Amino acid sequence: MLSAILQHGKGYHEMGPIRPPSEGKDRSLLVRVTRNCPWNRCEFCRTYKNKTYSLRGVEEIKADIDTVKALAGEIKAVSWRFGFRGVIGQEAVGAFINENPALYSRAYNNSEIVERRLESLFNVVQWLSSGARTVFLQDANAPQIRTADLVEILCYLKESFPTIERITSYARSKTIARKSPEDLKRLREAGLTRLHIGLESGCDEVLAFIKKGATAAEHVLAGQKTRGAGIELSEYYMPGLGGKKWSRKHALESARVLNEIDPDFIRLRTLVPRQGTPLYERIGSGEFELLTEDEVVEEIALFVEHLDCHAYLVSDQMCNLLWEIEGQLPGDKPAILKTIEDYLQKPLHERLKIQLERRLSSYLFIAGRLDRDLALDVELAWDAVNRGHPDAPSRVQKVLDAIKPAFI
Ligand code: SF4
Repeated sequence: MLSAILQHGKGYHEMGPIRPPSEGKDRSLLVRVTRNCPWNRCEFCRTYKNKTYSLRGVEEIKADIDTVKALAGEIKAVSWRFGFRGVIGQEAVGAFINENPALYSRAYNNSEIVERRLESLFNVVQWLSSGARTVFLQDANAPQIRTADLVEILCYLKESFPTIERITSYARSKTIARKSPEDLKRLREAGLTRLHIGLESGCDEVLAFIKKGATAAEHVLAGQKTRGAGIELSEYYMPGLGGKKWSRKHALESARVLNEIDPDFIRLRTLVPRQGTPLYERIGSGEFELLTEDEVVEEIALFVEHLDCHAYLVSDQMCNLLWEIEGQLPGDKPAILKTIEDYLQKPLHERLKIQLERRLSSYLFIAGRLDRDLALDVELAWDAVNRGHPDAPSRVQKVLDAIKPAFI
């Protein structure tokens, strides 16, 4: 059993740090095609800071796919042998780990290898238990590799796992804009079903300021090429990214660009400044003025008002305040705008309560607890909000400033 899993590599398949929340929800298998980001200059992003971009060889990636196949086969076999009738539940996974001390015991392996093997195992287990239907190619821009190589990887995945229905990847507009329509069609035919593109903004001033490395025209070209090749498209708009200076133009130009693209999905991913990013420094120096929570919501209202396309709009990121913004455009636009308006019409202390409650629940999900100073600030903020004290907005803001940089 051991040799079957180890014969293709180190007993794990390599994974990168992130995937879109929708891929997490669908429990996609993660297949790392490249490491890190070939651009790595966006001013708000720290995911791959100080990490070097590199390609992975096709044979190396195929060996990862073979490892996943061996793991899947062995876990299923253990499930049957132990009387779980092929079901991959906790008991079957526990039995599989106990059966393989040479793979998972720290007595025989260093901790880092064991961690990687367990992460890989849990990704495979989750994927199997959801029907082994979806795959996400990592890291930031898998289509950067040669089209022929990506076609080979896609074909190998589909041959290895006939249950696969959807294969998706992040992509940069610059890369997709340079691909020929024939190359994109080849990728679609080989099994690439959806691209996730970080539009962030359709406003050229904002794109230049945050060093996105793509213009609004390139976003439109890449989006239209993707759709033209029959590949589904998920575009990410970042409310707040224009700061106070460009908020209005950022909303209007982003809506215009997305209308021209007409993607399948528009996902909101509100700007949350993170320590260690160039943008965070610019906020500190006063060069960039952040919007308040309510100003961001107003900007989203303006953006939605000007959308005239057929996308499914969704707010599925932890960094958003209003997770309930969701619906199929254009039909659900009035209902979405009403959801936003309902929030904006609430009295100030109710809006502050919503901000505090939602941001704290996200923070506790990540951090697990509040440290003593933060707990005291939270207590003071709740007290001010509940008493309708004039200090309430600044007390809530202090808590938000402390917890939001931790958001993923
Ligand atoms: S392209 Fe994506 S991953 Fe790369 S720096 Fe920009 S936001 Fe980050």
